[in-house]
Amino acid sequence: MMIPGFTLPSQQGVTITLREATVSDLLDFADSEPAFEEKVTTLFLNRLQDKATFVDSKEWTVEDRRFALYWYWLHTTDDAEVAIKYACGHCGKTHTFLQDYRKIGDTYQSIKGLPERDIEIDGKRITVKPLNGGDAEILESMALSGDGRKEQAKRRIEHLSRVANIPVAEIIALTVKEFRALEASIKEALSDLQHGFEIDIDGTQTSFVLPPHTCPNNKEVQTRVRVLFRTYDFVPAL
Ligand SMILES: [Zn+2]
Repeated sequence: MMIPGFTLPSQQGVTITLREATVSDLLDFADSEPAFEEKVTTLFLNRLQDKATFVDSKEWTVEDRRFALYWYWLHTTDDAEVAIKYACGHCGKTHTFLQDYRKIGDTYQSIKGLPERDIEIDGKRITVKPLNGGDAEILESMALSGDGRKEQAKRRIEHLSRVANIPVAEIIALTVKEFRALEASIKEALSDLQHGFEIDIDGTQTSFVLPPHTCPNNKEVQTRVRVLFRTYDFVPAL
């Protein structure tokens, strides 16, 4: 079965169509290492794509890839309600509720203008682009080498290097002050490039930002619950 086509949130002119996975597909996906979620995402999206409109999902943005997995899941699941539990910052109690994932679409936005922004640092023009799938795979493999302060800092630098196309050697030669200024400018450009669902990208982890949930103990206050995006929650398994 073909899933209805969708437009890439980062590129309004590109429509992608996925087919439903077969048992044979799932047997092949089952070979992949669970820690490599980005790799599995690439494999899944490339394999199930209609060849007539194929675009390598390594070139899609991380947001496009999340959206595509959600889209697939939404059109193949029997139950779009997901149980959510969170510690309420307002009343201090734990709340549970069912989130209808069809409603996550309310936070969707397509990209404003081109999927890149130019910034100027010390008179030099730098083009910032959203992180793509190929970059995400590299950052993911770096994450497997550890999560100490040094590894985290290295990933942060690699991330900047990839989205702004600046060699790592140039970044590590900057003074701390210059580095902070560069990072702030890049982050600002990336936030202006926001597209797809509202998601938080923190290092190598992505979270959905759910629509506001009203505290049952105080109807005046709401919380935007963050739910870690796990590829395996959206990719079918046997
Ligand atoms: Zn509460």
